[in-house]
Amino acid sequence: MDFDPPESVRPILERIDRLLADHVLPAEAEVLERGWNGAAELLAGLRAKVKEAGLWGPQIPKELGGLGLDLVEHGLVSERLGRTPLGHYVFGAQAPDAGNLEILHKFGTDAQKAKWLEPLARGDIRSCFSMTEPDNAGSNPTMLSCVARVDGNDYVIDGRKWFTSSADGAAFAIAMVVTNPEADKHARASMVIVPCDTPGFRLVRNIPIMGDRGEGWASHGELEYINCRVPIENRLGPEGAGFLIAQERLGPGRIHHCMRWVGICERVFDLMCARAASRVIDDDGKTLATRQIIQAWIAEARAEVDASRLMVLNAAWTIQHKGFHAARDFVSTIKFYVADVMMRLIDRAIQVHGALGITSDTLLAHYYVHERGARIYDGPDEVHKMVVARRILARYGAKR
Ligand SMILES: Cc1cc2nc3c(=O)[nH]c(=O)nc-3n(C[C@H](O)[C@H](O)[C@H](O)COP(=O)(O)OP(=O)(O)OC[C@H]3O[C@@H](n4cnc5c(N)ncnc54)[C@H](O)[C@@H]3O)c2cc1C
Repeated sequence: MDFDPPESVRPILERIDRLLADHVLPAEAEVLERGWNGAAELLAGLRAKVKEAGLWGPQIPKELGGLGLDLVEHGLVSERLGRTPLGHYVFGAQAPDAGNLEILHKFGTDAQKAKWLEPLARGDIRSCFSMTEPDNAGSNPTMLSCVARVDGNDYVIDGRKWFTSSADGAAFAIAMVVTNPEADKHARASMVIVPCDTPGFRLVRNIPIMGDRGEGWASHGELEYINCRVPIENRLGPEGAGFLIAQERLGPGRIHHCMRWVGICERVFDLMCARAASRVIDDDGKTLATRQIIQAWIAEARAEVDASRLMVLNAAWTIQHKGFHAARDFVSTIKFYVADVMMRLIDRAIQVHGALGITSDTLLAHYYVHERGARIYDGPDEVHKMVVARRILARYGAKR
């Protein structure tokens, strides 16, 4: 196995690194200070630079104006972009649009593609993915109450959703709604495209995350659908295929997230080492770097981040060459392992920074607040661990 980045992606990685260093990193503090709406012009300017450089949409298919990278190549790009909170957004690779784009590309009709997919791929509009409900356990996505009943040529949707990321300012939601309550639990729901200006669709609030409501793309919305009427032709894929399509969306999505987290780990690791090497802690001029406990944290973090990176690339490679089924266990193990490595590293880096670590003068507090969800979304740690352990134990004859 060759551990070098493939030749196909090496020049792209170099150009991305340059663009990040020259334009994106210098804009980071201003965007985080002013918020996603306040800094809209600055962000639009950065996106224009990415497009000019021919680097827009690393994972977007070529026929839609992107680079059309495969999963391993995009994983490597995602790691670079993850080194700044602006990276994925500025390069057109941000969740939830990336996942929505993928399912619209795969399951959309020609009319849906022209209306929603093409402007989404160009970055002219944004979207959101509306599955989780406040009143049902999101970790079991077959439990949904939001219903869509047929009335003439329309679906009429009623229900509540929350944690619909980026709903604020989105042009449309892909909503997972129950279309046949009598069906088998995996066939009850369908995906329906709901334009956000449809009467009856309401963004109730941006939910505060540890005190931060966020705005625009960087927000998580609570939504109400009341008598919300959309044509049946807005259904994405066959009736009852919601669960299957959601699974389809999550597979590559987990690779994208995990490589982004590896990028975050690298950024946080740099901050931790730089602080340890420069913070003088006694009269002899000794720094934190001379202390064994800090050295142990640094060595452990290095090993864990390297392990994470190889595990994610292995999962991506397996999906690409042997199919998703062969990679199922790898995808589950990376999801909980890398999220845990990232959160432990952020916490230790904060500790190394002392009081400075919990201020907004470094990126650490931002990551601490906004990445904690990594251990919850796309399947909480406990569910992935349970699924993997069950499969392993079944091979030893354990009964469920
Ligand atoms: C930052 C963030 C962004 C999100 N974005 C979106 C989005 O864009 N669209 C969307 O639809 N949803 C989104 N979600 C919601 C997310 O998918 C759900 O939070 C997730 O599925 C868990 O569901 P829940 O919060 O209802 O937790 P619950 O299902 O109530 O579970 C609570 C806890 O119980 C434990 N648990 C659950 N099941 C088991 C089990 N079988 N065995 C042992 N322990 C278990 C876990 O520790 C879990 O954390 C987002 C969430 C976060 C945090």
